[in-house]
Amino acid sequence: MSTVVRVALPVPLPTLFDYLPPAEGRVVAGQRVLVPFGRGRQVGIVIEPAATSTLELARLRPVIRLLDDEPLLDAELLRTLGWAADYWLGAPGEAFANALPLALREPRPLPDVAEEHWQLTPTGQDALSGGRRRGGSRALLERLSAGPAHADALAANLPDWRGAARRLAAAGLIERATPPSTPRRPPAMPPPALSSEQRDAVAAVGETFGRFQPFLLDGITGSGKTEVYLALIEQALAAGRQSLLLVPEIGLAPQTLRRLRERLGVPVEVLHSNLAEGDRARAWLRARSGEAKVVLGTRSAVFTPLPRAGLILVDEEHDASYKQQEGFRYHARDLALVRARELGVPVVLGSATPSLETLANAANGRFRTLRLRARPGASRPAPQVQIVDVRSQYLDHGLSPALLTAVRETVERGEQALVFRNRRGYAPVLLCHACGWHADCARCERPMTLHAGQRELRCHHCDRRAPVPSHCPACGAGALWPQGQGTERLEEALGALFPGVPVKRIDRETTRRRDAFERLLDELRQDGPAIVVGTQMLAKGHDLPRLTLAAIVSVDEGLHSVDFRAGERLAQLLVQVAGRSGRADRPGRVLLQTHHPDHPLLRTLLASGYGAAAAALLAERQAVQLPPCSHQILLRADAHRRDEVEAFLAAAAAALPADPDVQVAGPMPAPMPLRAGRHRAQLLIESTGRARLHAVARPWRARLDALPHARRVRWTLDVDPIDLY
Ligand code: ADP
Ligand code: ZN
Ligand code: ZN
Repeated sequence: MSTVVRVALPVPLPTLFDYLPPAEGRVVAGQRVLVPFGRGRQVGIVIEPAATSTLELARLRPVIRLLDDEPLLDAELLRTLGWAADYWLGAPGEAFANALPLALREPRPLPDVAEEHWQLTPTGQDALSGGRRRGGSRALLERLSAGPAHADALAANLPDWRGAARRLAAAGLIERATPPSTPRRPPAMPPPALSSEQRDAVAAVGETFGRFQPFLLDGITGSGKTEVYLALIEQALAAGRQSLLLVPEIGLAPQTLRRLRERLGVPVEVLHSNLAEGDRARAWLRARSGEAKVVLGTRSAVFTPLPRAGLILVDEEHDASYKQQEGFRYHARDLALVRARELGVPVVLGSATPSLETLANAANGRFRTLRLRARPGASRPAPQVQIVDVRSQYLDHGLSPALLTAVRETVERGEQALVFRNRRGYAPVLLCHACGWHADCARCERPMTLHAGQRELRCHHCDRRAPVPSHCPACGAGALWPQGQGTERLEEALGALFPGVPVKRIDRETTRRRDAFERLLDELRQDGPAIVVGTQMLAKGHDLPRLTLAAIVSVDEGLHSVDFRAGERLAQLLVQVAGRSGRADRPGRVLLQTHHPDHPLLRTLLASGYGAAAAALLAERQAVQLPPCSHQILLRADAHRRDEVEAFLAAAAAALPADPDVQVAGPMPAPMPLRAGRHRAQLLIESTGRARLHAVARPWRARLDALPHARRVRWTLDVDPIDLY
């Protein structure tokens, strides 16, 4: 019998908490417990029953109640979560809080998620033949005499069966049946015959079932990566094993889900943050019971329990949405690798534009690379990409004559054109033409974006809103000019230039409502000619068969950013946007507007493709020792008072254990030094040795809470930050 129960609690403190065991019940790791915490109560997870505590036993309080008989988290998840908390320097309880759906963090027993089947007991058989029981009860007995039945089937035929079931169950005439294993329906859609590249990829992964092996599935857009996932999921199903498929964002899920459901003939559980909490908990529990064989989800689905795991797939592995950017800053792709290792299963990272991190792992042999170079099915040539040099060109709302001509030709052929611009709103700046004043956000010192539809100015950094001034607050002039183009303005301009052609805008504003995104995509899959104005959202693997032109309004911002990842992001974006065009039977065309037509990144990308561009970028990172050729941890801090931020970071820098292999940069102001009225600064620590960096960071992290000002500034540690903002 253990004397102490060590518990992870969802609080941002980097420790576990010790309690005395409860009066009754057996304590096991992975169980949920209700414990006193401060003046309130918290639901925690038992990490281990322990023999001793560093605290005096007399000062420990007992666990109020065990919430589960069986552990909710199995040994593998406990280990993986412990690893995750250690690696991303989070509080253990925060890692656990991320892993559990909200509804399971309540002090309640688990909801019943088992499939509900009913059957007759032997007594029930006798009662039926004896002819006792009348009405609803008799009808239910007769129905069940034909064999066990699912609750849904009973409800369909016997509207008031519940009451009868309660009476009959109480009398011992019927009982809950253990569900027969769900029979697989024949798939509604037969799979295409795989190409030889696809077959090779499936075979290579298939050979590793039952052990850990990471793969990079490097396949151009439209090369049939999803077909490879489906074939592998089929194999796992045939072996009675579970598959987890991670996708970047909700927008992508409905389309992939439909395809999985049509093809697999088994229930597919979906897990993402837009789901109702009850549904999320039920899907999670069905995975935990092993009943769910296929789980499709976004970032947090990486925590799904997989007691019968066979396979983990990460689609679009380069996507930034896999990194959580607040609270516990884990990376779902990296965690998927750790889980696959702990579960002893293969893991496939798929992308047309793999991250440099993944390419480095493929180059050093940690990952095996599988390539898909062709687009199978109808012969669909790769899109033809062309640079439009806009220097000294007349631009109509930022659009060159060459771009407008291409749009015109496209819609006149009855096809669709995408005009890509990664800026929402009407105009990024509102300027006084008389004196040069422009509307800035006072809390961020950055220009506010004009939103014409809402007739207001919005700060895209802190979401502050302000009315549009009728005249210049500085000089009183009446001529305020919107400068630059957002999607809203392009929508208006293209509508005026191409009367009669539907112009659809797809950005965060037009897709705010549930399902709006999916509806817009559906319209585009059916319609005739159309012009789509869209942001980043459209760059993510959506199949738009009628789109034959993708025109990118400007690539220049990506060429000149201070962020060392900007080049990689731009290359990925261009290839992904290009991949949206010409997927059906028509060749696609891609136009890139730029003032820098000779930029080496653009040249390499166009002449030799993403692989060559990525290799060049990786060589640059190697030369200057930036990730993935080094490792970084960023300490960010912000507060209303700048002196407090500076004092905190200075103290943090002083508290850092010295190590010749760990470099420190800062404290320095953040790239955006003011945001929402708070002063921001940071300290970056870096090393070429990951283990060295963590060896320094772990004891450092433990000291940060006690530093002067640690409670007056807001601070976070970001391990492997994906941007420095
Ligand atoms: P990716 O995920 O690499 O972008 P998909 O798996 O979505 O590619 O495939 C792109 C298109 O090609 C889809 O319409 C798909 O049905 C089709 N496709 C994939 N593989 C084959 C194949 N072997 N034969 C015929 N069509 C295929
Ligand atoms: Zn003015
Ligand atoms: Zn602001």
